[in-house]
Amino acid sequence: MLILESEAGWNVEAEERAKVKQHIINEMDHLRAEVDRLREHTSPIEPDNAIGRLTRMEAINSRSIHEKNMGRALARLKRLAATLVRVDDEDYGYCRTCDEEIAPKRIWLVPEGTHCMKCLS
Ligand SMILES: [Zn+2]
Repeated sequence: MLILESEAGWNVEAEERAKVKQHIINEMDHLRAEVDRLREHTSPIEPDNAIGRLTRMEAINSRSIHEKNMGRALARLKRLAATLVRVDDEDYGYCRTCDEEIAPKRIWLVPEGTHCMKCLS
């Protein structure tokens, strides 16, 4: 059964762990592509940019947005890489605060999450 359809919750079954791992690997591939794409937009902007001063300022602004997004993507990549090793741990999928099972939907959305929604809010 697909983890998203699982009503009983996160069953710590090997099959489901394998699915989560594959999901994390897919997410990481996606993020790496995103970082590559953003990197193209974060090259230094020429001071004597022929397109004019205002456009240059816009370029600098959008570059800083791209840099921020790239930093975020890189940070998530790091977290996902660390999570990939954790998926086989016995306590993976359980909240670090209340020890309850983390909802499968949340695991799927945020596999690197270590807390249930209740403890997060
Ligand atoms: Zn909790």
